[in-house]
Amino acid sequence: LIYTKTRFMQSAAKFTQCPQWDGVEIAFAGRSNAGKSSALNALTEQTKLARTSKTPGRTQLINFFQVDETPYRLVDLPGYGFAKVPKAIKIEWQKQLSTYLDKRECLRGLVLVMDIRHPMTEFDKTMVDWAHESNMPLHILLTKADKLKRGPASATMLQVRKAVANMGDLATVQMFSSLKNDGVKELRKHLTKWFMD
Ligand code: GDP
Repeated sequence: LIYTKTRFMQSAAKFTQCPQWDGVEIAFAGRSNAGKSSALNALTEQTKLARTSKTPGRTQLINFFQVDETPYRLVDLPGYGFAKVPKAIKIEWQKQLSTYLDKRECLRGLVLVMDIRHPMTEFDKTMVDWAHESNMPLHILLTKADKLKRGPASATMLQVRKAVANMGDLATVQMFSSLKNDGVKELRKHLTKWFMD
Protein backbone atom coordinates (compact mmCIF):
# COMPACT_ATOMS: atom_id res chain seq x y z
CA LEU A 1 0.00 0.00 0.00
CA ILE A 2 1.38 3.36 -1.00
CA TYR A 3 0.46 5.67 1.84
CA THR A 4 2.21 8.59 0.22
CA LYS A 5 -0.50 8.49 -2.45
CA THR A 6 -3.26 9.38 -0.05
CA ARG A 7 -5.69 12.08 -1.06
CA PHE A 8 -8.59 13.94 0.42
CA MET A 9 -11.98 12.66 -0.71
CA GLN A 10 -14.72 14.37 1.25
CA SER A 11 -15.84 15.78 4.56
CA ALA A 12 -18.87 15.24 6.72
CA ALA A 13 -20.14 17.68 9.32
CA LYS A 14 -21.86 14.98 11.31
CA PHE A 15 -21.54 11.26 11.78
CA THR A 16 -25.04 10.87 10.40
CA GLN A 17 -23.69 12.37 7.16
CA CYS A 18 -20.85 9.87 6.76
CA PRO A 19 -20.87 8.62 3.18
CA GLN A 20 -22.10 5.15 2.31
CA TRP A 21 -18.96 3.15 1.68
CA ASP A 22 -18.31 -0.37 0.41
CA GLY A 23 -14.62 -0.28 1.27
CA VAL A 24 -12.82 -0.36 4.56
CA GLU A 25 -11.85 2.51 6.82
CA ILE A 26 -9.55 3.17 9.76
CA ALA A 27 -10.25 6.14 11.98
CA PHE A 28 -7.78 8.43 13.74
CA ALA A 29 -8.87 10.08 16.95
CA GLY A 30 -7.14 12.13 19.57
CA ARG A 31 -7.55 14.95 21.98
CA SER A 32 -6.82 18.23 20.23
CA ASN A 33 -3.14 19.12 20.18
CA ALA A 34 -2.13 15.49 20.80
CA GLY A 35 -0.38 15.47 17.41
CA LYS A 36 -2.95 13.69 15.24
CA SER A 37 -2.64 15.92 12.18
CA SER A 38 1.15 15.72 12.31
CA ALA A 39 0.94 11.92 12.56
CA LEU A 40 -1.34 11.71 9.51
CA ASN A 41 1.03 14.00 7.63
CA ALA A 42 4.04 11.89 8.63
CA LEU A 43 2.24 8.70 7.63
CA THR A 44 1.45 10.05 4.18
CA GLU A 45 4.56 12.21 3.80
CA GLN A 46 2.33 15.15 3.00
CA THR A 47 2.68 18.46 4.69
CA LYS A 48 -0.87 19.64 4.23
CA LEU A 49 -3.06 16.56 4.18
CA ALA A 50 -4.42 17.11 7.65
CA ARG A 51 -4.21 20.68 8.83
CA THR A 52 -2.19 21.19 11.97
CA SER A 53 -3.03 23.65 14.71
CA LYS A 54 -6.60 24.33 13.80
CA THR A 55 -8.54 27.26 15.16
CA PRO A 56 -10.08 26.38 18.50
CA GLY A 57 -13.85 26.36 18.52
CA ARG A 58 -14.23 26.21 14.77
CA THR A 59 -16.73 23.75 13.32
CA GLN A 60 -15.00 20.42 13.23
CA LEU A 61 -15.32 18.13 10.27
CA ILE A 62 -14.80 14.44 9.74
CA ASN A 63 -12.40 14.11 6.84
CA PHE A 64 -12.09 11.09 4.57
CA PHE A 65 -8.88 10.25 2.72
CA GLN A 66 -8.35 7.48 0.20
CA VAL A 67 -5.10 5.53 0.10
CA ASP A 68 -3.97 5.44 -3.53
CA GLU A 69 -6.50 3.73 -5.84
CA THR A 70 -7.64 1.27 -3.19
CA PRO A 71 -10.89 0.68 -1.31
CA TYR A 72 -9.05 1.76 1.83
CA ARG A 73 -9.71 5.01 3.63
CA LEU A 74 -8.28 6.90 6.55
CA VAL A 75 -10.73 8.96 8.55
CA ASP A 76 -9.62 11.99 10.53
CA LEU A 77 -12.04 12.40 13.40
CA PRO A 78 -12.31 15.83 14.99
CA GLY A 79 -10.21 16.21 18.08
CA TYR A 80 -11.59 17.89 21.06
CA GLY A 81 -10.66 19.18 24.43
CA PHE A 82 -11.03 22.79 23.31
CA ALA A 83 -11.94 24.87 26.32
CA LYS A 84 -14.00 27.16 24.12
CA VAL A 85 -16.39 24.54 22.83
CA PRO A 86 -19.69 24.63 24.77
CA LYS A 87 -20.26 21.58 26.90
CA ALA A 88 -23.51 20.69 25.14
CA ILE A 89 -21.64 20.46 21.82
CA LYS A 90 -18.94 18.28 23.34
CA ILE A 91 -21.55 15.92 24.74
CA GLU A 92 -23.33 15.77 21.37
CA TRP A 93 -20.00 14.98 19.64
CA GLN A 94 -19.22 12.26 22.14
CA LYS A 95 -22.62 10.70 21.54
CA GLN A 96 -22.07 10.75 17.79
CA LEU A 97 -18.55 9.44 18.12
CA SER A 98 -19.65 6.45 20.18
CA THR A 99 -22.41 5.72 17.66
CA TYR A 100 -19.87 5.89 14.85
CA LEU A 101 -17.56 3.43 16.60
CA ASP A 102 -20.44 1.15 17.36
CA LYS A 103 -22.36 1.26 14.09
CA ARG A 104 -19.96 2.05 11.27
CA GLU A 105 -19.86 -1.23 9.38
CA CYS A 106 -16.78 -0.51 7.32
CA LEU A 107 -14.67 0.55 10.31
CA ARG A 108 -11.79 -1.89 10.87
CA GLY A 109 -9.87 -0.16 13.58
CA LEU A 110 -9.22 2.91 15.62
CA VAL A 111 -5.88 4.69 15.94
CA LEU A 112 -5.86 6.74 19.12
CA VAL A 113 -3.20 9.44 19.22
CA MET A 114 -1.87 10.53 22.60
CA ASP A 115 0.86 12.96 23.56
CA ILE A 116 3.38 10.68 25.31
CA ARG A 117 3.77 13.32 28.03
CA HIS A 118 0.04 13.29 28.80
CA PRO A 119 -1.20 9.76 28.10
CA MET A 120 -4.64 8.40 28.96
CA THR A 121 -6.59 11.60 29.48
CA GLU A 122 -10.29 11.33 30.32
CA PHE A 123 -11.02 11.58 26.61
CA ASP A 124 -8.59 8.76 25.86
CA LYS A 125 -10.07 6.55 28.55
CA THR A 126 -13.52 7.07 27.11
CA MET A 127 -12.28 6.14 23.65
CA VAL A 128 -10.52 3.03 24.95
CA ASP A 129 -13.68 1.96 26.78
CA TRP A 130 -15.76 2.41 23.63
CA ALA A 131 -13.29 0.45 21.55
CA HIS A 132 -13.38 -2.29 24.15
CA GLU A 133 -17.17 -2.36 24.31
CA SER A 134 -17.46 -2.47 20.51
CA ASN A 135 -14.67 -5.04 20.13
CA MET A 136 -12.96 -2.53 17.87
CA PRO A 137 -9.23 -3.10 17.27
CA LEU A 138 -7.29 -0.27 18.84
CA HIS A 139 -3.80 0.99 18.08
CA ILE A 140 -2.39 3.65 20.38
CA LEU A 141 0.20 6.07 19.05
CA LEU A 142 2.28 7.67 21.78
CA THR A 143 3.47 10.60 19.77
CA LYS A 144 5.95 13.40 20.44
CA ALA A 145 8.20 10.60 21.74
CA ASP A 146 11.15 12.88 20.90
CA LYS A 147 10.10 15.04 23.86
CA LEU A 148 11.05 12.34 26.39
CA LYS A 149 14.26 10.49 27.11
CA ARG A 150 14.34 6.81 26.28
CA GLY A 151 13.75 5.63 29.88
CA PRO A 152 10.66 7.69 30.68
CA ALA A 153 9.27 7.03 27.18
CA SER A 154 9.57 3.26 27.65
CA ALA A 155 8.07 3.50 31.12
CA THR A 156 5.06 5.34 29.71
CA MET A 157 4.63 2.78 26.97
CA LEU A 158 4.60 -0.04 29.52
CA GLN A 159 2.12 1.84 31.67
CA VAL A 160 -0.24 2.38 28.72
CA ARG A 161 0.14 -1.26 27.63
CA LYS A 162 -0.88 -2.29 31.13
CA ALA A 163 -3.90 0.00 30.99
CA VAL A 164 -5.22 -1.72 27.84
CA ALA A 165 -4.05 -5.24 28.69
CA ASN A 166 -7.65 -6.30 29.33
CA MET A 167 -8.30 -5.91 25.59
CA GLY A 168 -5.77 -8.63 24.79
CA ASP A 169 -4.64 -8.76 21.16
CA LEU A 170 -7.24 -6.14 20.22
CA ALA A 171 -5.09 -3.34 21.62
CA THR A 172 -1.53 -2.42 20.64
CA VAL A 173 0.70 0.49 21.60
CA GLN A 174 3.68 2.08 19.86
CA MET A 175 5.87 5.13 20.18
CA PHE A 176 5.80 7.72 17.43
CA SER A 177 7.48 10.97 16.53
CA SER A 178 6.27 13.05 13.61
CA LEU A 179 9.21 15.36 14.13
CA LYS A 180 11.79 12.57 13.78
CA ASN A 181 9.68 10.39 11.51
CA ASP A 182 10.01 7.59 14.06
CA GLY A 183 7.45 4.81 14.03
CA VAL A 184 6.08 5.49 10.55
CA LYS A 185 6.98 2.04 9.24
CA GLU A 186 5.49 0.31 12.25
CA LEU A 187 2.27 2.31 11.88
CA ARG A 188 2.00 1.50 8.16
CA LYS A 189 2.54 -2.19 8.84
CA HIS A 190 -0.20 -2.13 11.39
CA LEU A 191 -2.72 -0.28 9.20
CA THR A 192 -2.01 -2.59 6.27
CA LYS A 193 -2.67 -5.62 8.44
CA TRP A 194 -6.05 -4.19 9.45
CA PHE A 195 -6.95 -3.22 5.90
CA MET A 196 -6.02 -6.58 4.41
CA ASP A 197 -7.49 -8.85 7.11
P1 GDP B 1 -3.65 17.80 16.56
O1 GDP B 1 -4.48 18.90 17.14
O2 GDP B 1 -3.78 16.54 17.37
O3 GDP B 1 -3.89 17.55 15.11
O4 GDP B 1 -2.12 18.22 16.79
P2 GDP B 1 -1.04 18.80 15.74
O5 GDP B 1 -0.59 17.74 14.82
O6 GDP B 1 -1.58 20.05 15.17
O7 GDP B 1 0.18 19.09 16.74
C1 GDP B 1 0.05 19.95 17.86
C2 GDP B 1 1.40 20.57 18.16
O8 GDP B 1 2.35 19.57 18.53
C3 GDP B 1 2.01 21.29 16.96
O9 GDP B 1 2.67 22.43 17.42
C4 GDP B 1 3.00 20.27 16.40
O10 GDP B 1 4.08 20.87 15.74
C5 GDP B 1 3.47 19.56 17.66
N1 GDP B 1 3.84 18.16 17.38
C6 GDP B 1 3.09 17.22 16.77
N2 GDP B 1 3.75 16.04 16.67
C7 GDP B 1 4.95 16.22 17.23
C8 GDP B 1 6.10 15.36 17.44
O11 GDP B 1 6.13 14.17 17.10
N3 GDP B 1 7.18 15.92 18.08
C9 GDP B 1 7.19 17.22 18.50
N4 GDP B 1 8.28 17.65 19.13
N5 GDP B 1 6.14 18.05 18.31
C10 GDP B 1 5.03 17.57 17.68
